[in-house]
Amino acid sequence: QLEYQYPKIDATKLVVEKTTEPRSLPPKEQLGFGKVFTDHMLTLDWDLEKGWTAPRIHPYAKIALDPSAIVFHYAVECFEGMKAYKDADGEIRLFRPELNITRFRLSMERLALPAPSEADLLACIKELVKIESRWIPENARGYSLYIRPTAIATQETLGVSPSSRCKVFVICSPVGPYYKTGFSSVSLFATEKHVRAWPGGTGDAKLGSNYAPGILIQTQVAKQGYAQNLWILNGMVTEVGTMNFFVYWINKDGEKELRTPHLDGTILPGITRRSILELSREWGEFKVTEGPIAMDDIKVAAEEGRLLEVFGSGTAAIVSPVHLIRWRDADVKVPLDPTNPDAQAGPLTSRLADTIMKIQYGEMEHPWSVKL
Ligand code: PMP
Repeated sequence: QLEYQYPKIDATKLVVEKTTEPRSLPPKEQLGFGKVFTDHMLTLDWDLEKGWTAPRIHPYAKIALDPSAIVFHYAVECFEGMKAYKDADGEIRLFRPELNITRFRLSMERLALPAPSEADLLACIKELVKIESRWIPENARGYSLYIRPTAIATQETLGVSPSSRCKVFVICSPVGPYYKTGFSSVSLFATEKHVRAWPGGTGDAKLGSNYAPGILIQTQVAKQGYAQNLWILNGMVTEVGTMNFFVYWINKDGEKELRTPHLDGTILPGITRRSILELSREWGEFKVTEGPIAMDDIKVAAEEGRLLEVFGSGTAAIVSPVHLIRWRDADVKVPLDPTNPDAQAGPLTSRLADTIMKIQYGEMEHPWSVKL
């Protein structure tokens, strides 16, 4: 870890400069993902000699950087994705935000950026969200405020070395429901030719450089009519698009099992993934495991009628049910709900989504839901 100078981030020194020109709210029905941004943002700057500046909440504005800033050349950038929700009483809630902040710190450390003090950074983000309260739709399950903490290396140099300066900023965007009318299941193309992450790489950190090379591959599978890429590494499933992967099946030993790839460094440790594992372990109704998943085993399970459900998990959608995987020269059909031919998600997928949403929107009191 990089040695750096004090002062640390100090949330008690937060400076708030409110906008004099608040923007009008977009109609709720028109909200997509990440297109509209709120009135304010949070900014913190760090310098090797001076440490962190006082955190500042200020009107949303463009950032001016020197063209030589490290971020433009060597992609020294990382980010987070978390959401704020409004409950039936109009109170703002975050979902396990401390896990996002820890992951952000780990991503920054992986880029030789200074580790921010987590409690102070979270306290500042909470203040930002409170100020942007009017942007979070009320009484609207599925609607939320997406929060995007970002860190960039801003030292002006073409040298490939740890940046002596960095900027952390947090912007917010009101978002609509991932599924406008109930679930809609997706088809996947299992990609072997390209890999998202590899042993010893950076797949377990949320670095912009993990995402850039996937964009072209995603457009190629979309052209072939598949919704998402299923990233394969040496025949093993890793992740689906930008989500973690789950299979629910009767395993080779005849046991009902929910399984997701183990965190071997190629998998982003999703907060939804962790929540799904913890919830289903608590239910204790089936085996829950983390371990390698061979695409061939999924194909055989489908052929033998042992495949029950497949879904992706992530903050954006909570879960995304899958009905088909293209694997080499075959279509692997994944069942949705055998009891309901119109259903777009299996019973376990739906139950997990519903439980997590109840927690997020405060319909079920739970320690994971943090009131502001
Ligand atoms: N994998 C990747 C590559 C992602 O970008 C995300 C979204 N952050 C996830 C998994 C899911 O993580 P989370 O549940 O924390 O949103």
